[in-house]
Amino acid sequence: MDTQAIKHSIQHSGRYNRKGFESPTQRAKALGESYQSDLIASIRENDFTFEEGRLKIKLAKSFGFCWGVERAVAMAYETRRHYPNEDIWMTNEIIHNPSVNNHLSRMNVKIISAKNGIKDFSSVSTGDVVILPAFGATVQEMQLLHEKKCQIIDTTCPWVSKVWHTVEKHKKHTFTSIIHGKYKHEETLATRSFAGNYLVVFDLAEAEYVSNYIQGNGDKNKFMNKFAKACSDGFDPDIHLERIGVANQTTMLKSETEEIGKFFEKTMLAKYGPANINNHFLAFNTICDATEERQDAMFSLVNEDLDILVVIGGFNSSNTTHLQEIAITNNIESFHIDISDRISVENNSICHKPLESDLVLKKNFIPDGKIKVGITSGASTPDKIVADVIEKLVAITK
Ligand code: SF4
Repeated sequence: MDTQAIKHSIQHSGRYNRKGFESPTQRAKALGESYQSDLIASIRENDFTFEEGRLKIKLAKSFGFCWGVERAVAMAYETRRHYPNEDIWMTNEIIHNPSVNNHLSRMNVKIISAKNGIKDFSSVSTGDVVILPAFGATVQEMQLLHEKKCQIIDTTCPWVSKVWHTVEKHKKHTFTSIIHGKYKHEETLATRSFAGNYLVVFDLAEAEYVSNYIQGNGDKNKFMNKFAKACSDGFDPDIHLERIGVANQTTMLKSETEEIGKFFEKTMLAKYGPANINNHFLAFNTICDATEERQDAMFSLVNEDLDILVVIGGFNSSNTTHLQEIAITNNIESFHIDISDRISVENNSICHKPLESDLVLKKNFIPDGKIKVGITSGASTPDKIVADVIEKLVAITK
C-alpha cells in the first residue's frame, strides 16, 4: 500500500484540516475555563509543594496535560464551535481521559462504535465531520473517511507523526520496523498501518526473545505463535529480521525503549560486525519530550521520602501506567485513579487500579499522623482533576 500517496491525496482534498479554526488566544481561553486550576498554579509557584495541617503534598515537577493533548482537545472543542449543526464523530476517544470524553459527548461529539475491536463506520454519512485523535488513526480509516467525503479534522500529535515518518523510512529502505509498544494500542495500530514489515515487542523480555532468534537460537513455529498478532502479514523471521530499525509507541517507558534500541544494535553488531552495521540496523529517537519529562519528574518524585503516591490518569492511558510502574519499582505504596470520585472523604477510602488488575477498594488509605503524599498525573489529565484530588486529601486529613 502506498501510504504516502494516500496521505497526500487526503491532505490535498480540500476536506482536511490539521490546524484547527481558532487563534492561540481563543484556544487558551476556552481550555483554561474548562480545565485549569488556580490551586495547581499556586502549588507550581510554591516549588510544587502544598502543606496544610498534617498533610504535605509534593507534586511531580512535570505532570498533566502535554502540548499534544492540549492541542487535540482544543481542536475538538473548536470543531464543534465551527460546525455547530453538523454530525461530528471521533474515530476513538480524543484522549484517554473520562472527564474530557464525557465533556465532548455532552457537546454531541460521538465516538464511532466498535465491536470486538472492529469499528462500524456505517453510521458516518457523506459530508460528516470526523476528528482523528491525538494518537492518530490508521491509514485505512483515513482512506475510508476520505472516500466518504468526510471533513477530516486531524489532531494527530506531531510526535506521533514523527514515528510514522520513521517507519516509512524503514519501509523505503527495506528495513523491518521493530516497534516497542502494545500491539493493540490505538497509536501502535496506526503506526503499524504505515509500516512495511514490522514486529511489535512489548518489553525487554520480548526483545531478548527476538534477539535470541536473530542469533540462530530459536524455533520458527514457536516464534510465529508468540508474535502471531504482533507482526505484519507474511512476516518471516528468517528473512525479515536481517535488516531492522527500531521505533516506539510515544508513551512507552523511555528507559526501556532506549535499552531495547541498544540491545538490538548490539545483537546486529555481534551478528554482522561493525563494518556492516549500517546495512542491518537503523535507530531513531521517537520518544516524545512530554513523556520523557513526566517520567524524569517521577524518578525525582520517588526520592522525596513519600508515604504514599497517587497517580492520576485514564486506566487505558499508557503513559500513566508507566508512571505507576515507576512508583512500584521504587516500592512506594501507590494508587492509580482516573477521577477524584474514586476517593471517599467520609470513609477515608480509595478505589484504585493496581497494575494488571481490576479495581480494588482500600480503606483508611490515609493513616493517622503526619503524611507526605506524592502526586503525579498522565499527559491526558487536566489540572482541575488533580486539584479535586488534593481538596479531598485536605478534607480527609482535617
Ligand atoms: S504524550 Fe507526547 S506524543 Fe502523546 S500527545 Fe502528548 S506530546 Fe504528543
